[in-house]
Amino acid sequence: MIYLDHQATTPLAPEAREAMLPWLDGPGGTGFANPHSPYRAGRAAAAAIEVAREQVAALLPPGGRVIFTGSATEALNLAIKGSGARRLAVSAIEHAAVLDTARAVDPQAAILPVDAEGLVDAAVAWPDGTELVAVMQVNNEIGTIQPVEALAERARAGGALFLCDAVQGAGKLMAPAGADLIALSAHKLYGPKGIGALWVRDGVGLTPLIHGGGQEQGLRSGTLSPALCAGFGAAAALARSNAAAEERHLAALWAEARAALGGFTLNGSAARRWPGNLNLRREGLDVARLMSDLRDIGFSAGSACASGSGRPSHVLQAIGLDARAARGSIRIGFGRYTGMSEVIEACTRIAAAAAAQ
Ligand code: PLP
Repeated sequence: MIYLDHQATTPLAPEAREAMLPWLDGPGGTGFANPHSPYRAGRAAAAAIEVAREQVAALLPPGGRVIFTGSATEALNLAIKGSGARRLAVSAIEHAAVLDTARAVDPQAAILPVDAEGLVDAAVAWPDGTELVAVMQVNNEIGTIQPVEALAERARAGGALFLCDAVQGAGKLMAPAGADLIALSAHKLYGPKGIGALWVRDGVGLTPLIHGGGQEQGLRSGTLSPALCAGFGAAAALARSNAAAEERHLAALWAEARAALGGFTLNGSAARRWPGNLNLRREGLDVARLMSDLRDIGFSAGSACASGSGRPSHVLQAIGLDARAARGSIRIGFGRYTGMSEVIEACTRIAAAAAAQ
């Protein structure tokens, strides 16, 4: 299969897999030990977790701590619910992990609009008395890069916390400076599934969602997986060292794919965009048919919805598309291991199948 769905998840980097293996050791080895136990094998596992924590922290600003969680969804829930903020403002194009959590805490949460390019205005207004503002770094559906540094500065000046969902930007772009809370997910940066992290600026107080053994500084009880932490850490270190070369590689793939799919219209800004994401629409396109014609190409419906209910994407609606245009959209996501020949083959076949409808 040609895998072009890197916003959904990324393949595990071989380096991350290697880093995980010693901590999956069964009988005969000691890598399986509980990292919270005091004997030598437990200490070794705990030390591996601390190395991984440093590697993840290196993707993030100075002056904060990394709390490992089970996913970015959990990190975002911990940030929003744990902050104690009651009056929230979130962008219209946030992932459901932010939107739904914000609405659960504050049914009147202010929804910050985006323009037709899929960008939040750095000067966008939120209601007086807002206690937490959340805007993502890179949108998962249309790849647009938000002015999070400027928004964080304004939130801080107004006395609100700023939460940034950096899931799609971490390890690729500079960390969102000025944020108070930043959420990450290992499986979007070539690490394993089942682990995320919340970065918390020093001085920001949180209350836990999960109570128990008091791990993760009392904020997230539950035995940590040294293997998942080590895989996350190795993936973070690799992302950091390869970031510039990878962005150039993705930009070349993006340009080729955009040219091959010239009959489609781009969704979202071309300029303020992560080049690993190409979201396109075509008048009257039957995306379900296209996907069933091309089962060996892993791409996604641009109108992806969490539940498969067929609801058009809230992101595409937020940029002004009607339900029909949103339903005629596809998302193609390139990654580190995607080759140019794969992109050419996939896009040629997508263009031909779309034209034949
Ligand atoms: N935020 C964004 C922007 C995402 O793309 C995703 C995953 O799709 C998440 C949050 C949730 O991440 P996780 O799968 O680690 O819960």
